[in-house]
Amino acid sequence: MTDCVFCKIVAKQIPATVVHEDEATLAFMDIGQVNPGHVLVACKAHVENVYGLADAQAAAVFHAAARVARAIRAAFNPPGLSIYQANGIPAGQTVLHFHLHLLPRHDADGMQLVWPVKNPPREKLEEYAAQIRAQLA
Ligand code: AMP
Ligand code: ZN
Repeated sequence: MTDCVFCKIVAKQIPATVVHEDEATLAFMDIGQVNPGHVLVACKAHVENVYGLADAQAAAVFHAAARVARAIRAAFNPPGLSIYQANGIPAGQTVLHFHLHLLPRHDADGMQLVWPVKNPPREKLEEYAAQIRAQLA
């Protein structure tokens, strides 16, 4: 996609600091570096979000993510690491080309994800699950 910043990185039209590349994925340093070692793992093909990932692309992205996560751990030894992935603008996605964040974490590092639990009754869980299972069938 011509106006997509991550497609331009994949095509080497703009610079990126790459840590890993294979046939289907490119992993490079997030320019914002929330914490040192913050890496993005993107699929090379322009797929906007998780809904468009082919099975092989999904497998390739997580395969690369697990490898790079282990490398980040070995290199930086962070006490934690968050994997973050947003789909759609309301979810916080700012670059509409599928990628996930590998984000080393530290105590009190300022990262925040508010998690407003509703703790519904079991019947609600069953109801929600039935709706999802019907789509998987
Ligand atoms: P998201 O908000 O999940 O879509 O994440 C997009 C991420 O891409 C942000 O964390 C940005 O810092 C990062 N980003 C945007 N442009 C570039 C770029 N040219 N090189 C590296 N990272 C980028
Ligand atoms: Zn793209």
